[in-house]
Amino acid sequence: MKITDIQFGMLRVPLKTAFKTALRTVDTVEDIVVIVRTDTGQVGYGEAPATAVITGDTHGSIIEAIARFIKPRLIGQEIANLNHITHLIQTALERNTSAKAAVEIAVYDLFGQLYGAPLYKILGGGDPVITTDITISVDYIDKMVADSINAVERGFESLKIKVGKDIGLDIERVKAIYSAVEGRALLRLDANQGWTAKQAVFAMHNLEDAGVVLELLEQPVKAQDIDGLKYVTDRVHTPVMADESVFGPTEVIDLIKMRAADIINIKLMKTGGISNAVRIADIASLYGVECMIGCMLETSISVAAAVHLAVAKSQSITKVDLDGPSLCQFNPVEGGVIFNESEISITDAPGLGIQTIHGLELISV
Ligand code: MG
Repeated sequence: MKITDIQFGMLRVPLKTAFKTALRTVDTVEDIVVIVRTDTGQVGYGEAPATAVITGDTHGSIIEAIARFIKPRLIGQEIANLNHITHLIQTALERNTSAKAAVEIAVYDLFGQLYGAPLYKILGGGDPVITTDITISVDYIDKMVADSINAVERGFESLKIKVGKDIGLDIERVKAIYSAVEGRALLRLDANQGWTAKQAVFAMHNLEDAGVVLELLEQPVKAQDIDGLKYVTDRVHTPVMADESVFGPTEVIDLIKMRAADIINIKLMKTGGISNAVRIADIASLYGVECMIGCMLETSISVAAAVHLAVAKSQSITKVDLDGPSLCQFNPVEGGVIFNESEISITDAPGLGIQTIHGLELISV
């Protein structure tokens, strides 16, 4: 099975409710779909969102990186040579992690198809059912409490609460949500870089002293502020998770050795795809550090790849934050991963099992 062409599409799906964090507000998922064609007629699919404020990738940069730098290296390559292909992708240009991720996802999809097995089995197997949390966007307290209760009634047992706007109000937000859902859902707090290190310690001490039990605190400080992250980790009881501060495997090694965070949030759009995500999961496992698998605003193409990875690496990926598809008004993809609110399961379809993508608009490059 040889790669013959790489094409692009645009996939737009409206969100059920606006996604609001300390960094941005978004109401529609608009992702680039990568279509990798082969000489056998089999097709692999990948996906990447524009997340300029986190990875720096835009729709234009994703297409340019793939069309000009990655695609010319991959035409004619045998899918069977997976490790060689991922090396070609990772060394095609610096950064551009979302572009690399989209192509890697499509190539791994084809690798699974080549051997007639779902991707998670190719990655080592596992129990093909996982449970995800759901994001509660930062908003007025009443709205956040209502959204949290609604999520619990839909069956979600873990809520990712977005904060990081205003420290005093953030503390009140968390206390109100905690008292509304106490005993029914675990709370994960994501500050999306919105606090300083001292504010984070102040907020967490206030919450901890008030008896609010949180599963974790995610990315309290600016991405580049690793010292600040360590400052918080050293001083609060709640486990601290690094998200925007870590992209690739070498950064994870540094972070773990510094003890700057307790948990690592793996996202394919930060790692540049599955090959480095596997490395991070294995590094974390060696050090006994837990990981979360997360996603950007993605649909069930790239999130499906993350699900397969999470199943295969469940030893270290113990927390799942793959709510992209459940935030969307509909699922545009008919495929091998079934998203049913908090429960996600994988069928036996080869690769990612994607049959149809509804509403995909081809982009000519
Ligand atoms: Mg985050």
